[in-house]
Amino acid sequence: MPYGSHSIVEQDIKAVSRALRQDYITSGEQVDLFEKKLCSITGAKYSVVCSSGTSALHLACLGIGLKKDDIAIVPTLSFLATANAVRYCGANVFFSDVCANSGLMTPDTYEAAITSAQKQGYRIKAVLPVHLTGTPVDLKEIRAISKKHNIKIIADSCHAIGGEYVGNPIGACVYEDAATFSFHPVKTITSGEGGAVTTNSLTISKKIKALRSHSMEKNTSMYSWEYKMKELGFNYRINDFQCALGISQLKRLRGFVKKRQNLVNHYNRLLSDAHPIVETRCKLTNWNKMSPHLYSILIDFKLAKTTRQSVVNDLRGNGIGTQVHYIPIHTQPYYKRLYGNLHLSGANDYYQKTLSLPLSPQMEVCDVKFVVSKLKKILKI
Ligand SMILES: *Cc1c(COP(=O)(O)O)cnc(C)c1O
Repeated sequence: MPYGSHSIVEQDIKAVSRALRQDYITSGEQVDLFEKKLCSITGAKYSVVCSSGTSALHLACLGIGLKKDDIAIVPTLSFLATANAVRYCGANVFFSDVCANSGLMTPDTYEAAITSAQKQGYRIKAVLPVHLTGTPVDLKEIRAISKKHNIKIIADSCHAIGGEYVGNPIGACVYEDAATFSFHPVKTITSGEGGAVTTNSLTISKKIKALRSHSMEKNTSMYSWEYKMKELGFNYRINDFQCALGISQLKRLRGFVKKRQNLVNHYNRLLSDAHPIVETRCKLTNWNKMSPHLYSILIDFKLAKTTRQSVVNDLRGNGIGTQVHYIPIHTQPYYKRLYGNLHLSGANDYYQKTLSLPLSPQMEVCDVKFVVSKLKKILKI
């Protein structure tokens, strides 16, 4: 039982086969259709699909105008790509701490990061809050703070497709300038590899669409074979059979979300008596109809008189896979070399305790029961 995995059924395979029989297997109609479907699911006006969640983040950063020597705030508790995308633009990352209980950037940790950056004489251009595990960050508050400082927002929504934040679908871009998604197989829906940016800005979407394919411009006043490149772009395209898979998976999204929510409810219920050694953190509430990507819990390994490695090994011995999301990015050698040793205690506390238990639409309630009973046994609860 892996910590997460994709679900491919016959209808997905048929969709891919059909796409392979079309005249265009890249830059064809499946690409446009996937974008349309993403707009209708997120409620955003525009969407641009691309090769990965990482390229989506890079394109979004370029789209909002992040340039060399600009500064962007990134919560240190995320996947590497959130920070790396900023670096691809030649901009610098200013790491924000996160809440020790949720692992999320909060209005408090965000404001603290701004204050600390300002003390060092930096002006912040952008912020990239992350809906960690599918739990939405408080974008409304983050927007209010950003407005005061004229900071652009890219919501890294790679964990959160299918969820809601205060009544709007994740990716609706009501509070953020752009949102990014990943369709890597471990994510909630997959296209093999793939990603997307959603936005309500025509300017941003046009810019990103051009950058996705070398910024090659064509128009009716040009020769039929002519194109102009005014900016340096990339090949961040996604092909038609990947998009066909993405569209087929989107049709199954509601089912995936329901299944994951149900599994999370069972996990929470079965672990409710495991305090204080285990704290659950995926809370499903009315205002926050989250689409859970990961089931991460906090374990007080010291109190349980054990170590994380030993628990991971014992679970693996029972055929149960786990993962740690995430090692704070600022502690990676590359970022240490750039910015020195930073002390972000909320992220460190969260990291010390977090462990992600298996969560995927392939699982059944009996699997959750099995995982929890083994975990309780190992932790002697
Ligand atoms: C997966 C992920 C990414 C990167 O997506 P890829 O498709 O693997 O490039 C970025 N941010 C977060 C939070 C992710 O989980």
